[in-house]
Amino acid sequence: MANIAIDAIKEVTYDAIVIGSGISGGWAAKELTGKGLRTLVLERGRDVKHIVDYPTTVTNPWEFEHRGQLPLEIREQNPIVSKCYAFYEGTTHFFVKDAEHPYVQEKPFDWIRGYQVGGKSLLWARQTQRWSDFDFEGPARDGFAVDWPIRYADLAPWYSYVEKFAGISGNKDGLATLPDGEFLPPHEWNCVESYFQKQMAGHYKDRHVIMGRAAHITKPQPIHFQQGRAQCQHRTICERGCPYGGYFSSNASTIPWAAKTGKMTLRPNSVVHSIIYDEKKGKAVGVRVVDATTHKMMEFYARIIFVNAAALNTNLVLLNSTSSRFPNGLGNDSGVLGKYVAFHNYRARISGEYDGMLESTTDGRRPNSPYIPRFRNVYKQEMDFLRGYAAGFSAGRMSHTNQDGIGASLKANLVKPILDGWYVGSHMMGETIPKESNFVALDSNLKDPFGIPQLRISVGYDDNDDKMVKDYIEQMTEMFTIAGFKNIKASDSKQAAGLDIHEMGGVRMGKDPKTSILNKWNQMHACKNVFVTDGACMTSTSTQNPSLTYMAMTARAADYAVKEMKKGTI
Ligand SMILES: Cc1cc2nc3c(=O)[nH]c(=O)nc-3n(C[C@H](O)[C@H](O)[C@H](O)COP(=O)(O)OP(=O)(O)OC[C@H]3O[C@@H](n4cnc5c(N)ncnc54)[C@H](O)[C@@H]3O)c2cc1C
Ligand code: SF4
Repeated sequence: MANIAIDAIKEVTYDAIVIGSGISGGWAAKELTGKGLRTLVLERGRDVKHIVDYPTTVTNPWEFEHRGQLPLEIREQNPIVSKCYAFYEGTTHFFVKDAEHPYVQEKPFDWIRGYQVGGKSLLWARQTQRWSDFDFEGPARDGFAVDWPIRYADLAPWYSYVEKFAGISGNKDGLATLPDGEFLPPHEWNCVESYFQKQMAGHYKDRHVIMGRAAHITKPQPIHFQQGRAQCQHRTICERGCPYGGYFSSNASTIPWAAKTGKMTLRPNSVVHSIIYDEKKGKAVGVRVVDATTHKMMEFYARIIFVNAAALNTNLVLLNSTSSRFPNGLGNDSGVLGKYVAFHNYRARISGEYDGMLESTTDGRRPNSPYIPRFRNVYKQEMDFLRGYAAGFSAGRMSHTNQDGIGASLKANLVKPILDGWYVGSHMMGETIPKESNFVALDSNLKDPFGIPQLRISVGYDDNDDKMVKDYIEQMTEMFTIAGFKNIKASDSKQAAGLDIHEMGGVRMGKDPKTSILNKWNQMHACKNVFVTDGACMTSTSTQNPSLTYMAMTARAADYAVKEMKKGTI
């Protein structure tokens, strides 16, 4: 009998467990299996296999029942997720619907999620900028949150490592605020974008317009072919899943790579309930999982655990992992678990028109656009708000069609668009300041369909964000005016926090265990065999997109964890 019990435990025992299979979990799976660890990847959603599970990837616009639009009924049933630009008839199957996984909004918060193998890596907009020391030194210099325990130099080699594998296109711009990476060739500019770039360079010393850096394979390298990925074809319907693997997703890249090692067990439909802490051993020994199909609770065991459920769900899992040693959540000796959550401020945008260069137009599509790195408060505090914002920018030729006629004559008119002038547009990406008052917690009454407490989200804007919105609108209006753009219109959408889909924090890194949960290796100060390398670990938010930094941190933490395992310290 005893042997049967031991065998049964062995069957559910691994070297490592990874919770979540999105951008960061995929990297954890790849790195840990690559270093020889038998790794169990637990994913709450269904399996999504590369190519075969992309049902709309080659669907033509006219083949959709509603021509790609969301029927009113779906919008009415899903007021939150319907606000996301990427949620349309071709992608609804990759998004969490509002009613399926409820949460409590103490302040308005649009929580956009993708629960499936690959997580949001299928859906993301693939913008991938490195962070710089202007970001990692920000909290210490400007006196908010806590000092990061790492600097750019700690991550630089890991950025290079993940960039080469993922495939990042970009130009080496030589900017201190935005370190260059291991780039594949950059995307092309159109003439009005180049014109704007030159106008800004001639007028400002510190405002640069560069081509966005994006996770697209513009020129495949042997490492991409080895992954079965090919050159991006510029179809710009990436969020439906790409049959070429032209952009980076866990499904096209890290998960199949980990599977090839033979060391990965991927278990979809496995909702992690909590992490099991063993008081005698003084460490985590495994996880409790609710099987999403049978609703049965089960346990899996491992020597190390990587928590990669995406920022807020990682907070939820840790808050729900209570024991007499950690009554307020795993690793939460400091009491900061769930607190200092921050995000990106995408509220403002601006548009205009340009009536020059009418002899030129664009041809084809481009899954990327130019980018303006932060220029406010970079070298010194010069504004009445902390930190700053980056901005996206793009230009394109407007057109209309003559809709006269009927039958063949109407068709003939429709295929001959009549060119109008150029439109230009920009949106802001502001840094928000992590504050204790922006937090997530477990609801004491409400449960989700698996009996797990619902997350209560109390995260919103403050005066600093309002001032930043005002400044972005003033500065971009000035920049558009200098460039000779007309009909300039700026707006503040006042959209709720969350719609930026860059939620971060709650399990922050720091030097001092009294004010942070994780050390400089993304390792829990108080429970050394648990690592958190998704957005939850972020001490502050920068203005850059975050996912490339999660990838680099994950690879770095996995390397450290395996070395420590070999030394026997964890
Ligand atoms: C439309 C859109 C555009 C975006 N654009 C960009 C961009 O341009 N650049 C950028 O850097 N970022 C962008 N993002 C954000 C980016 O997608 C996320 O930062 C990134 O996916 C986070 O990686 P992750 O591993 O933390 O989470 P995810 O990729 O979301 O993966 C988390 C996984 O964990 C699973 N999970 C959750 N809870 C549990 C549980 N209890 N048990 C088991 N599994 C669980 C989920 O199902 C999911 O598969 C965008 C996102 C969207 C939706
Ligand atoms: S733009 Fe590139 S990555 Fe996106 S779907 Fe098309 S080919 Fe794939």
